[in-house]
Formats: sequence, C-alpha cells, structure tokens
Amino acid sequence: MMRLPPFSYVPAVSVPDAVKLLAEHGPEAMLVAGGTDLYPNMKRRQFEPAVLVGLRGVRELAGLRGSGKAGLSIGAGTTLTAVSRHAEIAASYPALAAAAGVVSTPQLRNMGTIGGNVCVDSRCNYYNQSYQWRKAVGFCMKKDGEICLVAPSSPRCWAVSSSDTAPVLWSLGATVRLVGTGGERVIPISALYQDDGMHPLTRRPDEILTDIMLPPADGLRSEYLKLRRRGSFDFPVLGVAVALAMDGTTVRRARIVLGAVASQPREALDAARLLEGQSLSPELIERVADAAARPAKPLDNTDLTHPYRKKMTRVFVARALRRLAGLPDRAERAGESRAFEVLGS
Ligand SMILES: Cc1cc2nc3c(=O)[nH]c(=O)nc-3n(C[C@H](O)[C@H](O)[C@H](O)COP(=O)(O)OP(=O)(O)OC[C@H]3O[C@@H](n4cnc5c(N)ncnc54)[C@H](O)[C@@H]3O)c2cc1C
Ligand code: SF4
Repeated sequence: MMRLPPFSYVPAVSVPDAVKLLAEHGPEAMLVAGGTDLYPNMKRRQFEPAVLVGLRGVRELAGLRGSGKAGLSIGAGTTLTAVSRHAEIAASYPALAAAAGVVSTPQLRNMGTIGGNVCVDSRCNYYNQSYQWRKAVGFCMKKDGEICLVAPSSPRCWAVSSSDTAPVLWSLGATVRLVGTGGERVIPISALYQDDGMHPLTRRPDEILTDIMLPPADGLRSEYLKLRRRGSFDFPVLGVAVALAMDGTTVRRARIVLGAVASQPREALDAARLLEGQSLSPELIERVADAAARPAKPLDNTDLTHPYRKKMTRVFVARALRRLAGLPDRAERAGESRAFEVLGS
C-alpha cells in the first residue's frame, strides 16, 4: 500500500486567508481542493509539499451565479457532480455538463472540483507510477531525473494535458479569475495553459483560481466526446470539444479544441475557420475533420497507441459535428461498438 508522506494541513476560511497562507509558506506549500488528483500524486512522490492549504472550507469558492442568457460564473470549488447536474449548464453549455459528468468515477466527482480539474497535473505513462517503479526505470525530468524517457533526445517534457473540462471551457470562450498577493486578474482560459509538460499552467505560485466565467450562450451548440479504455473510470486519451455559435443554420463562430494530444489543450483554428459562414453539410464536415486532425500529434506516452489516437481525432471531430448538425451518426447506423466512447450532449 502506498502511504502519504508527512505534511501539515492548514485550512483556509476565505480567499484572502488562502492567499495569505500560500504566501506565508512559499514554495513548500500547495493548494488542495478535493484532493482526488493531488493525494494520489503525493503517494507516488510526484509532489512532496510540506504544507497543504485546504480550500474545502472556503464557502465563497463553491456555487454558481448567473444564467446561460447573461453568462455564468462557476466557483472553482464547485464539485464536478454539481456542475454536471446543473440545469442551466445542461441547457446552455451541454458539453460542459457532459465533460464534468465523465471525469473519473461518481465518488471522485463528488469530491473533485472544477478548479482542481482545470489545474490537474499533466500525465505520462513514465511519470504516473509509484516511486519504486520510477526509480527502477530511472527517473525522468518531470520529477527526480534529468532526461525524458519518451523522447530521450528531447530537451523538454511532453506530459499530456488530461483534463476533461479544460478543452470544453476553452471552446466555450471561458475566462478565469486568479487572485494572488498582487491582486486579481482575469484571463482567457486559453492563456492559463502553455505547451510545457513540466509546467502546464501559467498560474503564478501565489495565485488561487477562484472563478470560471462563461460568456452568454446566445445560440451556442456544444459537444464533447471522450476516448478512453474503460468507459467508467479512465482519464481521456483524446477529448474533442466543439462549440458552434449559430445564426439559424449558418455557423457564425466555431471553436474546436482537442484535449490529451499535447501538454495543453490544442485549438484547431484552421478547421474551425472552414466552418464559419457555412451551413453544416456532410461534405464540409469531412473536410473540417481532416483539417482538425492535422495539428493532433499524440505521443506514445498515454494509453492506446498514438497512431490510433490520431485517427480517432478525425473520427470524433466528424462525429461531434454530425451530432451538432442533427445528421445521423454513421457509427450508430452501422451498429459500431461504442465501448471506447463516452458521449457528450
Ligand atoms: C482514478 C482517477 C481517475 C481520474 N480520472 C479523471 C478523468 O477521467 N478526467 C479528469 O479530468 N480527471 C481525472 N482524474 C483527476 C481528478 O480526479 C480530477 O481532475 C478532479 O477534478 C481534480 O479536482 P480536485 O478538486 O480533487 O483537485 P485536487 O486534487 O485538490 O488538486 C489538483 C491540482 O489543482 C490544484 N488546485 C486545486 N484547486 C485549485 C484552485 N482553486 N486554484 C489553483 N490551484 C488549484 C492543486 O494544487 C493540484 O495541483 C482522475 C483521478 C483519479 C485518481
Ligand atoms: S514526457 Fe518525458 S519528461 Fe515528461 S513525464 Fe513523460 S517521460 Fe517524463
């Protein structure tokens, strides 16, 4: 059995209190919300904080305000279960309800928060292992070692962004509020991420993510499809988030964002541009799916093979667009197995 290393737990009672505690303990401290990612990572010695600043008691972090019509603000401490079951989210941002509802298992969704999900650590087959396993193969540069075991000649880490909600929030045009010792700032969620497996977040060490803000839904249609081996448990090895702002049958604005193909969610900009000003036709969907799969360059460091994951990017983008267009799904018609796929809205 893997045990937690020793640490002190200091519960915060408010956001300013959490900021103060985080600053007081400096680089020794980490934030913990639901702990569903952090505690297992600590057991594997991927993180060894001496102090954990607990956010569970910070009431102002939990809950939702606003509406789909006016725009919605989600407190970072809101549980994934609450997000997935919220009527306004289900009606106006169905892809987000779907993504939150397919994270891990019901127990973890009851504890896990959306803030923790947005900030979840990047993953790799050579890193998400016990200390003894990592020691036996020779540690890698993300923790305790010098080189990358996936690409030994590479100067960087390629660990994979593995959040289900991050690509969806990006596709919906969400912004996030960060509060630190220097005050607060609001940035697009796309700016929270960077393509660096070691440091996938641009969050400053003294900052707390307090809110996630969604713009008014205004004719928005959205979809999230997730690829994983076990439909009731696993992290995504591919996530496809599509959001279309429609004027009648014409696409006014499109965003396609891929999860689990790089160290940050990856936006398929060229593919989305093909959709704008057009009606969704089967021919256009095929062209867009081809274009969307191009920037997806999965590496051999998660579950399922990377050529297969690349092929599935094309399949999932086409499938998501067909659903949003109300066109019949070819896989469903052919009775193809959906064991690997978890549906969005
Ligand atoms: C078996 C298993 C399966 C899983 N499957 C999935 C999956 O399918 N999809 C998926 O996306 N995730 C999955 N997870 C990861 C995790 O359960 C979720 O990502 C969850 O949403 C994390 O939220 P949390 O509140 O528990 O975060 P924590 O574990 O408390 O924290 C996660 C990280 O976020 C930071 N953090 C937390 N809150 C804040 C904040 N307000 N401001 C700044 N930083 C913060 C912490 O310091 C830590 O680095 C899985 C985990 C396990 C153990
Ligand atoms: S991509 Fe390389 S450096 Fe990064 S976690 Fe995996 S093996 Fe380690």
